[in-house]
Amino acid sequence: MKVDYLVIGFGLAGMAFIAELEKAGKSFVVIDDNQNIPSRVVGGMYNPTILKRFTPAWKAHEMWQIALPFYKELEKKFAKKYIYPFKICRILQSVGEQNNWVVASDKTLMSEYMNPKIVHKDINGINAPFGYGELKNVGRIAGEELLYDYKAYLIENDLFQQKTFKYDQLIISDDIIHYQDIETTNVVFSEGSYLHQNPYFSYLPMREAKGEMLLIEVPDLAINYALKSSVFMVPFGNHKFVVGATYNWEDKSFKPTKTAKQELKRKLQGFLKLPYKVLDYKVGIRPTIKDRRPLVGKHPKYSNLAVLNGLGTRGVIVAPAIASILFEHIENNTPIIDEMNIKRYENLL
Ligand SMILES: Cc1cc2nc3c(=O)[nH]c(=O)nc-3n(C[C@H](O)[C@H](O)[C@H](O)COP(=O)(O)OP(=O)(O)OC[C@H]3O[C@@H](n4cnc5c(N)ncnc54)[C@H](O)[C@@H]3O)c2cc1C
Repeated sequence: MKVDYLVIGFGLAGMAFIAELEKAGKSFVVIDDNQNIPSRVVGGMYNPTILKRFTPAWKAHEMWQIALPFYKELEKKFAKKYIYPFKICRILQSVGEQNNWVVASDKTLMSEYMNPKIVHKDINGINAPFGYGELKNVGRIAGEELLYDYKAYLIENDLFQQKTFKYDQLIISDDIIHYQDIETTNVVFSEGSYLHQNPYFSYLPMREAKGEMLLIEVPDLAINYALKSSVFMVPFGNHKFVVGATYNWEDKSFKPTKTAKQELKRKLQGFLKLPYKVLDYKVGIRPTIKDRRPLVGKHPKYSNLAVLNGLGTRGVIVAPAIASILFEHIENNTPIIDEMNIKRYENLL
């Protein structure tokens, strides 16, 4: 089989890159082993702000301008709804936070998302004596459904191979790469937190962050927006909410832990005064990088191998933008900004 691209890994990064290839009419095949992947467990929230400090996240506003039309296109492609806009109500903790909210909401970029008025409303069972700051133009992407539909479409068209990619079977020459029966011009690696297994790119400094979440049902809570206190409560319809997430930089296993469950329940108790039932536990590993910037670019020695990774905590927003940047770089040699270019780590090789 002869293709323009071989893509390894089908999470948010791989999917966004494949969408670029399809748009440009390139031929490709994807290999993914369907392991326990964060792209499928995420809350899927898109929120270009940092709600701890009320500041914009790095380039998130800019990237969201690319991501929103990208997801709209996929809604059209699969004739399904994946974008669920809702507001986020940030539970304010003090008079100081109320002031900070009002000041921040007047700043460029933040004014796109923050409603300057402090909202005092009674939500049955929610403890918020200092009121809420409301965030607009945010919401959730149904990533799990989207990946499922995209994968089914790829399988139907013989473009998806469900298996583990074996790095030692890659044969690289100047213009052509061979992998088993595949002959290709470019290989793009989008393996998320499994990057450390890749002998070509394992020098890149990933600091994986394990995250755990609860799926809960709160029969007496009828809200269709998210709440944010020390944790997020993201609405999934029918009184169901995803609560999370935790951060653990040591434990790299995909097993749910008692400590994380206890932490989430304790944080939830801080503002939720209603009975709830835990329906499920979700675990994933975020591909976060030491400097918290994406990893985009070609291998310093093998220019036909490229990497698309480091989506961190905001994969939904980041994936479409960086996929397009990498594609343009490979095809047209368009420069990649230094902050996300893997060249910044060449000294680690
Ligand atoms: C608990 C939690 C909550 C989160 N919440 C949000 C959120 O609300 N909003 C948001 O934007 N982001 C969120 N994130 C972050 C987001 O999930 C990640 O940024 C994103 O999913 C990373 O996507 P990826 O494609 O890089 O990697 P992955 O999703 O890990 O996909 C990589 C794929 O590559 C495959 N693979 C790897 N190596 C091989 C190999 N050798 N052979 C074959 N296949 C291979 C894996 O099996 C996997 O399918 C959250 C993450 C976690 C853990």
